[in-house]
Amino acid sequence: MKKGIIIGAGIGGLTTAIALLKKGIEVTVFEQAAQLNEVGAGLWVAPNGMKVFEQLQLADEIIQSGTILEKIEVLDWNGSTISSIIGDKIRSKHQFATTAIHRASLQKILHRQLPVEKVVLNKKFISFEQDSEKITAIFADGQRESADFLLLADGIKSISNLNLFPQHKLRYTGQTCWRFVVDFQLPHEARNEMQEIWSKKRGLRVGFSQINADQVYVYITNYQKSGESDDPSKVLDKLLSLCSEFPTIVSEMIQATEGTNVLRNDLYDFPPLTSWTNGRMALLGDAAHATTPNLGQGACQAIEDALVIANELHHSENVHKALKAYEQKRIKKATHITNTSWRFGQVTNTKGMLKSILVSLLRYTPESVNEKQLDKIYNL
Ligand SMILES: Cc1cc2nc3c(=O)[nH]c(=O)nc-3n(C[C@H](O)[C@H](O)[C@H](O)COP(=O)(O)OP(=O)(O)OC[C@H]3O[C@@H](n4cnc5c(N)ncnc54)[C@H](O)[C@@H]3O)c2cc1C
Repeated sequence: MKKGIIIGAGIGGLTTAIALLKKGIEVTVFEQAAQLNEVGAGLWVAPNGMKVFEQLQLADEIIQSGTILEKIEVLDWNGSTISSIIGDKIRSKHQFATTAIHRASLQKILHRQLPVEKVVLNKKFISFEQDSEKITAIFADGQRESADFLLLADGIKSISNLNLFPQHKLRYTGQTCWRFVVDFQLPHEARNEMQEIWSKKRGLRVGFSQINADQVYVYITNYQKSGESDDPSKVLDKLLSLCSEFPTIVSEMIQATEGTNVLRNDLYDFPPLTSWTNGRMALLGDAAHATTPNLGQGACQAIEDALVIANELHHSENVHKALKAYEQKRIKKATHITNTSWRFGQVTNTKGMLKSILVSLLRYTPESVNEKQLDKIYNL
């Protein structure tokens, strides 16, 4: 029986472990954090992610813990629609609409599927070595673990930590992002809707949706230098001032939270890689194809990786071939997502007249073209 090691217990690593164990492949996840405590933010799981969870018999539980989005709408500074995705329409083609969920709830659901001994916490991976027989993961405490294959699901900094592609640098989008989950109920008619509202200013937008009956997830992006941080006692005033042009419900949600609940991340990706594998090692999730959050697809792409990697390792006796087949099946789509999401983000970084023109182009994109784009993303 094949035996594997996964580094990282994020959404990618946990989903992959579940998919592999379901195929009868023995695998252990090693995570550097002392506990699994996903940050206080939400996540939108698009139909492609939900289709994978359906195959892993987890879709119902995820839907019950989250909120189904019947409408996802991007609006401009006048409140006019730039684009919208209607749940019923997507469901009729793709079986699921997008589900909004608290990240911690999703992580708990995933973690619960795995036997306790299969997720080892407080174990920082530092490097690996391999020969024709096996691959060995080396940890900061000196422990060495050998297996038939090693999957690096350790996030966006993976390749730079290991110096795997020295020329390949993280790329800053120009935007920083504040996120928080707040006890709040949107008006009844908006409970199953997600809205993203764009300002005419560079990079400024706000997005929000209910993620369960009692909580709303809010994010705010702005064009800003990287590396800055906030004083928790002043961050709410800063966000209130930044968001003063948005509908008053945005200010109400900011006022209903606490500064210590607000997460701030500079948004990075890296330009698509041309290879994700090295013998018995494969990258997956953000480690392979970090993307900006503009399409809400980063985690969904990691979830897709999980299914493909498990299928390939199940079908092929040869680990090298299985990992290469995974790369070949997944790299084109993940590259498309990274590139499209990057371009989309750069549109939001414009201002004034140029932004008005680009928004008009988006608004008047024929529905058939938008549908094709969505099919490309939502089809597995
Ligand atoms: C603002 C924002 C909003 C987003 N919204 C969405 C969305 O709505 N929908 C969506 O699909 N995606 C979204 N994403 C993207 C999504 O969050 C990521 O793509 C996803 O979390 C990647 O999962 P992962 O498992 O690959 O990596 P991560 O979640 O980064 O997990 C990596 C894990 O590896 C561990 N690790 C790291 N180094 C080591 C080491 N050396 N040894 C051991 N363990 C290690 C880390 O502690 C972590 O637990 C968003 C991203 C951002 C920044």
